[in-house]
Amino acid sequence: MRKQIVAGNWKMNNDLAQTQALLTDLQKQTQTSNAEVMIAPAFTNLYQAFETLKHSNIEVIAQNMHFAESGAYTGEVSANMLKSVGINTVILGHSERREYFNETDESLAKKVDAALEKEMQIIFCFGEQLADRKSGNHENIVEGQIRKALFHLEASSFQNIILAYEPVWAIGTGETATPEQAQDMHAFIRQTLEDKYGSDVANLVSILYGGSCKPSNAKEIFSNPDVDGGLIGGASLNAEDFYAIVNAF
Ligand code: PEP
Repeated sequence: MRKQIVAGNWKMNNDLAQTQALLTDLQKQTQTSNAEVMIAPAFTNLYQAFETLKHSNIEVIAQNMHFAESGAYTGEVSANMLKSVGINTVILGHSERREYFNETDESLAKKVDAALEKEMQIIFCFGEQLADRKSGNHENIVEGQIRKALFHLEASSFQNIILAYEPVWAIGTGETATPEQAQDMHAFIRQTLEDKYGSDVANLVSILYGGSCKPSNAKEIFSNPDVDGGLIGGASLNAEDFYAIVNAF
C-alpha cells in the first residue's frame, strides 16, 4: 500500500519564537489518520524544529537545497548540511522556486541527483500555469516537467521520491483544483510513470496534491484513488487546521 503523506510547507514564514510556538501547538494535536506528517520550516529554524520534534511522529524537512556538495555558492545550503542537522527529506521544484529563483527542469535534475546521492528523500513539485490549463496543454506540461527532471533515474530511485502535483493557479490563491481535476491529473501522472518504469514503480510512488488545500476540502480531495496526500502551504501555519487536514484521510 502507498504511503499517505501530509507535508506542511511553511515557506518564508515564522521567526525563531514563532516557530517554537507553532511546534508547541503541533505537539498538542491528536492524529487519528495513518498519514505520515512532515513540516518544512525555514533553514534558520530547521535544527530547532528537528530537536523539538525528534521523538514525535512529525518529520522535519527542508524547502530546498543546492546541487553542489560545498563551495563558492553564497547563500546556498547543501544536502550534507541538511543531513548534519537531522534533515533527510527535501522539497525540490516548488513553483515559487521555479518562478522567482529561475529553477529549471535541468537544474532540478541536478538537485534530484545530489539529494539521491546523499540518500535523501525528495518531494518533487511540478504543475501547470493557468494558461496551460485553459489551452488544454496541462498534461503535456506536467509530463515534460517529470520527464526532464526525473526520467534519467533508475527505477530503484523512485523508492525515495514523492511527487507533488501543484497547479500553479491553485497555490495561495484560494482556487482549488476540483477533486475530478486532481484525480484525472494524478491518474495521468501514474500512467506516465507506468509507461516509463512499469506498474511496480507507478503503484509505489505517492502523489500529493497541493494548491489551497484546507480543512473544508481535504477530505474530498484525499478520497480520490490516486491522491495520496497533500502539500499544504497557508493552512499548515495553523496547527488545528493542519491536523484537520492530516486527519482528513
Ligand atoms: C504550496 O505552496 O505548496 C501550497 C500548496 O500553498 P497553498 O496551500 O497556500 O496553496
